[in-house]
Amino acid sequence: MRTSLGLIGHPLGHSFSPAWFRDRFRDEGLQGWTYDLFPLERIADLPRFLSAHRNLLGFNVTLPHKQAIMEFLDELDPYADRTGAVNTVAVLEDGRLKGWNTDAPAFREVLLGIVGPYLPEHALVLGSGGAAAAVRVVLEDLAIPYLTVSRTKGRGDLTYPDLDQHRLIESTLIIQATPVGMTPASEACLPIPFEAFGPDHILIDLVYNPPRTRFLALGEAAGSTTENGLKMLYLQAEKSWQIWRQI
Ligand code: NAP
Repeated sequence: MRTSLGLIGHPLGHSFSPAWFRDRFRDEGLQGWTYDLFPLERIADLPRFLSAHRNLLGFNVTLPHKQAIMEFLDELDPYADRTGAVNTVAVLEDGRLKGWNTDAPAFREVLLGIVGPYLPEHALVLGSGGAAAAVRVVLEDLAIPYLTVSRTKGRGDLTYPDLDQHRLIESTLIIQATPVGMTPASEACLPIPFEAFGPDHILIDLVYNPPRTRFLALGEAAGSTTENGLKMLYLQAEKSWQIWRQI
């Protein structure tokens, strides 16, 4: 039985995953299971990495390989296919590789946990990277109309100067899917007219460190509902684990 798991990416700074999986193995009474950090600078080195780690059951993928890994995969789950990003790979019995995106279902669960059956009428997605792609797929599945906001004209529907009070009043769901506000630059915040927010707004920041970004603090001060990225982080890990347990 293969009992090795891990995370590939580069550079791999602090990751919450090894501790999360260590706790999981302990809670389930699993002996000999490991979850390691595997710094991999060039995705082209993946085949060599796999040959050197024959006990690997699967691995998570982080920046900068979430998109580039796809050319090495034999199979994709629908969320990976639609987002164009993979964060979970299983090494199947016959050596084939299958990729999943567990950020999307994790975000879906977080969102539905907040709104229940009362879906917002319009949303704004801040950022145009991999995390934003997962968010967009979920909004599409739930038929929540949205606009994306980018720093660069043409990359999204709007740029930040377009975010006037009117836009923000009609969009009651705002998802912050950029790294702005992450530790150590935790004072940073996107240029948004926060005075437009009120108790009807829901602000979800995918950043989890710090747990209360300036974006969330300003939303909270306006009386809005806020959620950080921690629940999504735990849920995507849980979903990876369930995938590996079932292969
Ligand atoms: P990314 O690809 O590096 O960046 C996402 C987008 O953010 C970029 O495409 C860019 O969009 C925008 N951006 C980057 N730097 C910016 C800046 N200085 N000012 C304004 N916008 C900026 O990152 P990602 O993988 O999508 O992740 C985004 C965030 O979500 C990260 O903080 C990550 O940790 C978090 N995340 C959390 C979870 C979770 O489980 N909670 C899961 C995945 C990701 P434009 O160029 O279009 O402006």
